[in-house]
Amino acid sequence: MVAFSEVAELVAWFLLAFMFASLVEYWMHRLMHQYPKLCQFHAEHHRRNEAQGVLGEFIDYLKGGLILMVPLFLYSRGVGLIWFCGTFCYGIFAAFAHQLQHENPTRCFWMKMPVHYVHHRYHQWHHNFGLGLDLWDRVFRTYQPVEWFAEAGANRGSDRPWFRVRWQ
Ligand SMILES: [Zn+2]
Ligand SMILES: [Zn+2]
Repeated sequence: MVAFSEVAELVAWFLLAFMFASLVEYWMHRLMHQYPKLCQFHAEHHRRNEAQGVLGEFIDYLKGGLILMVPLFLYSRGVGLIWFCGTFCYGIFAAFAHQLQHENPTRCFWMKMPVHYVHHRYHQWHHNFGLGLDLWDRVFRTYQPVEWFAEAGANRGSDRPWFRVRWQ
């Protein structure tokens, strides 16, 4: 039988991996804005202002983040697996959060302000870099609150449930 302390340790590793992935995502996005020449496709993403579907977004994150998902296997197989799961789950969550904020931002119920929607809508080159969470914007002082809800377009699709987004 698995001891409670072992389960608690695995849960802690999972949460650590999840938060670490969100931190990496924050800094990758921030660097894309700091060095736009290195990342033309992000400027193009801002020009088009649309997401490619949850699956397509997730595959992109996976390609970029795979190198961060596997090194804990060198430490132990159990921890490596949980770390992989934590980062993998953040990838799915971030891909969904991204799609939702492009399609139906008022349904982004877990954030007071859908940071990524605001980041696009107000052409913010220096603020609100989070996708799934606004935590790191608050920690690194790039969080910029905006009266976004009353803006034209913010209510677009708000009668649709949160899971009705383009999945692929
Ligand atoms: Zn951006
Ligand atoms: Zn976007």
